[in-house]
Amino acid sequence: MKFYSNRAPKKGYSWETPPEKIAETEIVETLTAEVIMIGGGISGLAAGARCRYRGLDTIIIDKNKTMQALAGQIAAVNSRVMAEKGIEIDKKMLAADWLKMSGSRVQEDLLWLFINRSAEGFHWMLDLAGDCLEVGVYEAYKGPMFSEYPGTHHIFQKRDSKKYKHWGGGFLACEIFEKAFLEMGGTLHRSTYAVYLEKDEAGRVTGCIAMCEDGKYRRYVGTKAVVLATGDCSDDPEMMEAFCPIGTRPGQQVKRKGNTGDGQKMAYWAGAALDNPEWAPTIHALAYSGYQGFFLHVNRLGKRFMNEDTWMQAKSVRCLMQPGGDFAYSVWDSKYLDEMADRFSELGGQGMMPLSVVGDSFNRERMEAVMQKYIDDGNAFVADTLEELAEKMEVPVENLLKTVKRYNELVAMGDDVDFGKRTRLLTSIEKGPFYACKWGPSLLDVFGGAQVDTNLNVIGADAKNIPGLYAVGNAAGGMYAVDYPLLLNGNSYGRALAYAMQLADVLAE
Ligand SMILES: Cc1cc2nc3c(=O)[nH]c(=O)nc-3n(C[C@H](O)[C@H](O)[C@H](O)COP(=O)(O)OP(=O)(O)OC[C@H]3O[C@@H](n4cnc5c(N)ncnc54)[C@H](O)[C@@H]3O)c2cc1C
Repeated sequence: MKFYSNRAPKKGYSWETPPEKIAETEIVETLTAEVIMIGGGISGLAAGARCRYRGLDTIIIDKNKTMQALAGQIAAVNSRVMAEKGIEIDKKMLAADWLKMSGSRVQEDLLWLFINRSAEGFHWMLDLAGDCLEVGVYEAYKGPMFSEYPGTHHIFQKRDSKKYKHWGGGFLACEIFEKAFLEMGGTLHRSTYAVYLEKDEAGRVTGCIAMCEDGKYRRYVGTKAVVLATGDCSDDPEMMEAFCPIGTRPGQQVKRKGNTGDGQKMAYWAGAALDNPEWAPTIHALAYSGYQGFFLHVNRLGKRFMNEDTWMQAKSVRCLMQPGGDFAYSVWDSKYLDEMADRFSELGGQGMMPLSVVGDSFNRERMEAVMQKYIDDGNAFVADTLEELAEKMEVPVENLLKTVKRYNELVAMGDDVDFGKRTRLLTSIEKGPFYACKWGPSLLDVFGGAQVDTNLNVIGADAKNIPGLYAVGNAAGGMYAVDYPLLLNGNSYGRALAYAMQLADVLAE
């Protein structure tokens, strides 16, 4: 067991060794600003724009040539959009549920920073965009065992607006901040890769050395702050092994280019305390078809293994725990479209994945078309008999028959005494054609980083703040632990917006 918090790590991983210092003769230029923001994803762009808005001279550098913005949902706790719709989140309950889901291993003050400032950040984004946006609030999943909080927003550019290149989601959010940042006179250098941080003799972090687009090294100096906004480490196998072993298990990953934990590494080399493992992975059931629904779930042995009335992250993790846990199946019969339609409005949120139908009213034709695509892609099977279906699924025929028989008994009893699923979601499997939809876990991100205080100032392994060094977004630790809480979808973008407001206040004041 390795610990990476306030104690010296055991040696072994290549990332534990800092890179060689670049010779002064190779550093062609020094660029100075009050704030050097390393990373231009949502956190870096939002925080950079807000710093600039507060009058701080800011340079953002990003190692990628183009913007990386994988997201559709943005959480904001009690936004004005929610108020207009009469929706309100009980903040104290949200905090309590978050703590439970995180095994109480999070910094409560950072959690409250997100809860209390996400709406403010979201409003500022809407104000920057002006009247060219349409904003929706996502219908939350509601169940007796698990409910989502209803503060997930979707943003879209109005059809007739030409203000932004992107039509919606994370790309649009990032573009709003990037455009504002540049219009306010900020400097953005893409294809610029921060290699390591520099400190002065007093231990203050003064800047970084970066490899620039022309292949030359430059020194970036931040007279007030150097901010890590470099995202997560899911694309670095050694960091994953050290901090998030379970995240190495899904057979599939939705990769973002270059999220190799550079900020965590740079912070570590500069003496920062990192979050204790296990870092919280986002493992969503997006592999194969990506659809699970509330129907019977069976593993690769054809056996039922869970209460299907739960969230997508929980499904992924439970699937991973199964023998050969790379995938499982949802099984239903010929009446599935009626059954879905009948429950659509009461389930909401993730209960109605695939993502393509979230937020809409139930669309029968579209769902049929989605199913046909799954079948065409080999991610779903249809058969006239259960025996034939089991063969197509490559699960033991007798097991599937036994499982379906038992499931139908539970449906008839109206009481799921085996796994506790709510009665309303028990639907029989009787009349062909029968369907099996293959789904499985896929790694998206890993949440763990440099420990910070509520000023977002990085804390050292000696428990003292590291002067000059700050972290936001996934490079910052403290707010997540154990498992990614899908209690309020879009919370990563929401956190980015909250931290942007906070960081700019701290640095401007
Ligand atoms: C498929 C998918 C869907 C998702 N959907 C949602 C959603 O709907 N809502 C939500 O809230 N979250 C979602 N997420 C998670 C979300 O995308 C991330 O948590 C979020 O982008 C983190 O923001 P960030 O700014 O901290 O990091 P990132 O967005 O990862 O940005 C980090 C930036 O730092 C740059 N960088 C890294 N290292 C260096 C270096 N050494 N020098 C210079 N630059 C560097 C990178 O190039 C990158 O641009 C999703 C993730 C995936 C994979």
